[in-house]
Amino acid sequence: MSLDSHIESVLWTHDQISDRVAQLAAQISTDFDSDSAPPPVVVGVATGAFLFLADLVRKIQLPVSVDFVRVESYGSGTESNGAPVISLNLKLDVKDKHVILVEDIVDTGSTVSCLIPYLESKGASSVSVCTFLDKPSRRKCPDYFVVGYGMDFAELYRNLPYIGVLKPEYYKPLSTTTNRATPFEKNRH
Ligand code: 5GP
Ligand code: MG
Ligand code: MG
Repeated sequence: MSLDSHIESVLWTHDQISDRVAQLAAQISTDFDSDSAPPPVVVGVATGAFLFLADLVRKIQLPVSVDFVRVESYGSGTESNGAPVISLNLKLDVKDKHVILVEDIVDTGSTVSCLIPYLESKGASSVSVCTFLDKPSRRKCPDYFVVGYGMDFAELYRNLPYIGVLKPEYYKPLSTTTNRATPFEKNRH
């Protein structure tokens, strides 16, 4: 079976992804440039953010440190069980540091809603969310499910170099809406 035989369509090509990552890295390099603050800590949400984080940090023109957290909420399907649990804690001390929380996709928002208070409780001086995709429609009604560029279906397809839509016959359709996951601006909290 070829890698993309279950992919219905390509949402974002490898080149489009690279362009957007470069823009975000440039924005972060400007926003976090400081002579007085300690280097920011880039915290990736494993596993989905690993490729985005790897590409992003290599384009950030500032010293940063890197750590990962893991949050379980999706299992192997396409529907959240609704109760995110932190299953891998920070290794680094983020006290009095700016944290850039890197996510592959914000869907219902429950993962970042769980992680922001966690990072604040560790003493982060600020928490900014940098997500590659945002699915605002899913917060009211379901959307379709994307894979690739780190994102999985049943732990597969993370190694696709583009972001694609899985053929509906391979997962349970969530609704008939056709809103697309869109690239998302960084939000300060
Ligand atoms: P939230 O907690 O915001 O509902 O979900 C966040 C997590 O769900 C994401 O980090 C991602 O791992 C997973 N997720 C949400 N939508 C999709 C999707 O369309 N495709 C994939 N592969 N994962 C998704
Ligand atoms: Mg994720
Ligand atoms: Mg997943």
